[in-house]
Amino acid sequence: MQITAAVVRERSAPFALEKLELCDPRPDEVIVRVVASGMCQTDLHGRDGYFASPYPAVYGHEGAGVVHAVGSAVGSLAPGDHVVMSFPWCGTCANCQQHKYCYCMHGRRLKMHGRRADGSTLMSRNGEPVYSAFFQQSSFGTYALTQERYAVKVRKDAPLDALGPLACSGQTGAGAVLNALQPQPGDSLAIVGVGAVGLSALMAAKIAGCNPIVAVDVHAHRLALARELGATHTIDHTGRDKVVDEVRAVAAGGVHFAIDTSALPGVFREAIEALIPGGTCVLLGSAPPGTDVAIEMPFLQQGRTVRGVVQGESLPKKFIPELVDLIVAGKFPIEKMIKFYDFADINLAAAESSSGIAIKPVLRMPVGGQVSDVGGRKRK
Ligand SMILES: [Zn+2]
Ligand SMILES: [Zn+2]
Repeated sequence: MQITAAVVRERSAPFALEKLELCDPRPDEVIVRVVASGMCQTDLHGRDGYFASPYPAVYGHEGAGVVHAVGSAVGSLAPGDHVVMSFPWCGTCANCQQHKYCYCMHGRRLKMHGRRADGSTLMSRNGEPVYSAFFQQSSFGTYALTQERYAVKVRKDAPLDALGPLACSGQTGAGAVLNALQPQPGDSLAIVGVGAVGLSALMAAKIAGCNPIVAVDVHAHRLALARELGATHTIDHTGRDKVVDEVRAVAAGGVHFAIDTSALPGVFREAIEALIPGGTCVLLGSAPPGTDVAIEMPFLQQGRTVRGVVQGESLPKKFIPELVDLIVAGKFPIEKMIKFYDFADINLAAAESSSGIAIKPVLRMPVGGQVSDVGGRKRK
């Protein structure tokens, strides 16, 4: 079928809306009419050549939409169902066999290589392949193809255009707290970097009853939103060199839990140093390969844990519907961090994401999946 997708033709080139051909679904696949897609730093890293995927390419991995067509073996989804497309996993590796899908040993290849696991491509233009299957979805298009097992059915009374970010930033932040750390009411928690991942962690920490909840960032508008969403204390890191002391001062000597989303070695070390004995610090941010951090051994010896967490250690078909219930109940107000853009304004969304103006850009696809103009102009 013909679709419109945002194509990157070469490294760091702007997104351009093009008419492409999307293949038919295989027996275990579904085609989703994308209603809206979040934009995440990983999409921009793909555009900018961080991964081994070739060009031209279509990115997007926070897609939400309506099932349009299903393969012959699909049993759990039907046309008209509302879905969020989550991350891919192989199903056969040692971690997948234990249902630890977020740590799939082939996950990176399935996310970043622009093809299905068997090397086939999903999209083409005039017979030439366009490398999509980004996170096995490529949601920067009017339609996307994914597997039944990655598409999470969600309730129809939830605001579908705000649900896409649950696929990556939402479950990454919220899952780090609710699945990985599992704090008790009254446990102290600090979040360093309150972008979309950090704010999702913050909303989850409030749900869990953490107190105090300390938010650290360099953007005043993010800290203001953090306070609105439940931070009991905020610290602007700009120009400060005693941030660890400030966190300790509001948390009775240190925090039980710290979350770093900055992926900056010096800042990550501060998050670790803010822990009380026995505390745990998780790293959620992505640093380039080869990035080191030094930890003082006697400090670590006092029962402190430092670890990474991927995708919030979520079982998406269980966890995403739980988050949707919290959204409907008003307890996880994800819409407060979202800035919506028309699909045609995707390059503006990318610029405002990079500059920090937009905490979580979400692209709204045209109603009915049709874009009349090719080349980035608005249909008005
Ligand atoms: Zn696997
Ligand atoms: Zn992401």
